[in-house]
Amino acid sequence: MKIVVTELIWEEGLKILRRLGEVVYEPGLWKSDALPPALAKADAVIVRNQTRINREFLALAPGLKVVGRLGVGLDNIDLAACKEAGVPVVFARNANAISVAEYVFAAMLSFSRRLDEATLDVKKGNWNRRRFTLTELYGKTLGLIGVGEIGTRLAARARAFGMIMLGYDPYLPPYETVCTEMGVEITGLDQVLSRSDFISLHVPLNDDTRNLINRERLSLMKPGAYIINTARGGVINESDLYDALRTGKIAGAALDVMSEEPPAGSPLLDLDNVILTPHIAGLTEEAQVRTSVLVAREVCKVLQGQTSVCCVK
Ligand code: NAD
Repeated sequence: MKIVVTELIWEEGLKILRRLGEVVYEPGLWKSDALPPALAKADAVIVRNQTRINREFLALAPGLKVVGRLGVGLDNIDLAACKEAGVPVVFARNANAISVAEYVFAAMLSFSRRLDEATLDVKKGNWNRRRFTLTELYGKTLGLIGVGEIGTRLAARARAFGMIMLGYDPYLPPYETVCTEMGVEITGLDQVLSRSDFISLHVPLNDDTRNLINRERLSLMKPGAYIINTARGGVINESDLYDALRTGKIAGAALDVMSEEPPAGSPLLDLDNVILTPHIAGLTEEAQVRTSVLVAREVCKVLQGQTSVCCVK
């Protein structure tokens, strides 16, 4: 068996793969000329979010039996082309959901208590206790757009903080109980936007969600509200977001993902009310070990003719 890993994987995952066969691993392989020859005899390919898996890619790997995705977002994989080619795709279902939920808390607390700013101020010799008398998360409303693996984990944590929770997710199964148990009121998108103090996006990027948050939807938000995007850059229209932030229509944004990464030249880089991070919400040591082990195990299962619970349906 030949397994080609085109992007970063943790050693714990490699160990599992090496037990099954030959592993070709190069974190930068996705952008290298060595990729096409490596794919020629590949039985499995494992990627993160940089490798584009489309018809051309699949044509280079005629013996491919499975694609493994070290993560959750599948927007870099043409699922229809994989299905047509009979190649199942396994992904790291929920392996980094806790890390993303904790990132959202870091962002909300950063907006509500501003410890970094207060530290800089104290280091300048100041002692501005009134300036840094800020707000609690307790009693504030958190709006979840997409209430799946990450959304529900965030809700569990928000509940412990005493937050009020609203959710918008038109694809929740009927009679679902998780949201009810968690205390998330499922309602319409406009309601979530207009009633929330913090809005957090947890939808996949696809034709329905591209530009979901645009000028019109931003205008529904409360003037003091914050938006947090750990989903995908294209879900928010960045030019509309820039206008809303610059004019004070909304109070701030935390963006872990951008339509172009890195966002060279984006005007958002110049705003003070934006937190920008390099797509790290799901990147913690724990989540990466979990992801690497899960995907390696599930890819091995498929290669050995077994079924995987992590196959994309
Ligand atoms: P999930 O599939 O468990 O949940 C997504 C939810 O969105 C589902 O409940 C689905 O019904 C809902 N949804 C789909 N289309 C919608 C729409 N148009 N409007 C409202 N809801 C809609 O996925 P997840 O594990 O919660 O991850 C969500 C996304 O977060 C991923 O697709 C990925 O792009 C992103 N992500 C980013 C990072 C990071 O490091 N920044 C890490 C993990 C995941």
